[in-house]
Amino acid sequence: MSECLFCKIIAGDIPSTKVYEDELVLAFRDIAPQAPTHILVIPKAHISGVSAITKENSAVVAHIFQVIPTIAAQEGLTNGFRVVSNCGDHAGQTVHHLHFHILGGKQLNLEMA
Ligand code: 5GP
Ligand code: ZN
Repeated sequence: MSECLFCKIIAGDIPSTKVYEDELVLAFRDIAPQAPTHILVIPKAHISGVSAITKENSAVVAHIFQVIPTIAAQEGLTNGFRVVSNCGDHAGQTVHHLHFHILGGKQLNLEMA
């Protein structure tokens, strides 16, 4: 069995609050939300992070960005939202399965670093 936390969530071995799912991606609520709406969107295929995106596996990234507006609309994020992906130690990546945070539901602060 995979030791990857998000692969376990995809497999249903760890419960999550799903907000969107299709054959390629899963979106679920972050367990420690940093904004009123905080959703993680992940590919079902394991990719360790942004630095592991290649020509061969990048189609799912386009698909993720295709479904993000659907999720944002479903969540009522009409005033905007932020999409973030932390990659590696300096960015504070803690789960090494590619994921995009969708943050919204309040005025987000503008600091990027
Ligand atoms: P990172 O820090 O790698 O960019 O983001 C990992 C995110 O996964 C964090 O925001 C953290 O709260 C979230 N997270 C960690 N473990 C779990 C879990 O078991 N369930 C859910 N839903 N989110 C998790
Ligand atoms: Zn994984």
